[in-house]
Amino acid sequence: MSRFWSDHVANLAPYVAGEQPKLSKLVKLNTNENPYGPSPRALEAIRAATGDRLRLYPDNESTVLRAAIAAHHGVEPGQVFVGNGSDEILAHVFNGLFRRNGRVLLMPDITYSFYKTYCRLYDVPAELVPLDDEFAIRVGDYTAARTEPIAGIILANPNAPTGRALSLDEIEAIAKAHPDAPVVIDEAYVDFGAESAIALLGRCANIVAIHTFSKSRSLAGLRVGFAIGGAEIIDGLNRVKDSFNSYPLDSLAHAGATAAIEDVDYFDRTRNKVMETRAALTQRLETFGFKVLPSRANFVFASHPDHDGSKLAAALRAEGVLVRHFNQPRIDQFLRITIGTPEECELLCKTLVKILTKTH
Ligand SMILES: *Cc1c(COP(=O)(O)O)cnc(C)c1O
Repeated sequence: MSRFWSDHVANLAPYVAGEQPKLSKLVKLNTNENPYGPSPRALEAIRAATGDRLRLYPDNESTVLRAAIAAHHGVEPGQVFVGNGSDEILAHVFNGLFRRNGRVLLMPDITYSFYKTYCRLYDVPAELVPLDDEFAIRVGDYTAARTEPIAGIILANPNAPTGRALSLDEIEAIAKAHPDAPVVIDEAYVDFGAESAIALLGRCANIVAIHTFSKSRSLAGLRVGFAIGGAEIIDGLNRVKDSFNSYPLDSLAHAGATAAIEDVDYFDRTRNKVMETRAALTQRLETFGFKVLPSRANFVFASHPDHDGSKLAAALRAEGVLVRHFNQPRIDQFLRITIGTPEECELLCKTLVKILTKTH
């Protein structure tokens, strides 16, 4: 605690991001970036946006980008909110929707760890609902009647770091059980094979789906995310945003993200390649004796019955292959492995064979 800090700073539990190595020859399968580059049309649009016009402020309403996102997803521009990465949108969601005078927020015990960080930052009490023994969300835990009103529910779908997905029927049942509470679905990985809750918006006014350009659009460095939800919820988020930073997206981000969402062909080709590689890698890992959870994301979550998770991660690191290991109860035997190119996955497999045979 420093005498210069506000009281609550000492109580924060900041998010710890995966390593971004300075050495470039490492095989980087630890932070779920896309192995394929951004759409060439996005890069061209970013280049075209550099120039004298950068002296002007960007469009604070992100009109063109929101229209492109709305057209792509078949919704109204007024249902689209954009932010500086989906993490920023999540921050506004916790601040603007979940901060409800001590009401609890429901979320899985194992999920994206930033949610707990935001709970601390915005004083939102969380009720952690355990996943089942196969690391799946039990829908009944979220639909059961409660004595007190809740602040809301947040679920990553597919969940992180498990990769498991709920069906739209399951999400609808959860949303309908709490019609007066926001149900936020973090769809950072949805484009790799799960169903988007955007399809439920007509029936569930309390749902908001959050997407990012960081994974399926290969633009983690550009920092763009968006939320799609009912107009009431989006209005609330806009009020928070305009009380915090009216210009979260710069002109280059507007240009690049708009071109990226319009390049459907490139998007489909690259995400299909990732899904094919995921299937192949899952099979390979299973032949090595790994248990691999069924993934709808651009990573797999795998454990080996005879090898300690943290030792495996360290051994891979020593061989130049980065994967993510979480030193956390229930999942400390697992590795989260980002789907790279087929060549990167081959290198991972070769290295694993070397490690598994050496330590046995
Ligand atoms: C990567 C990720 C995010 C953050 O995405 P950004 O848009 O890069 O901030 C949010 N939620 C989940 C579950 C993620 O995995």
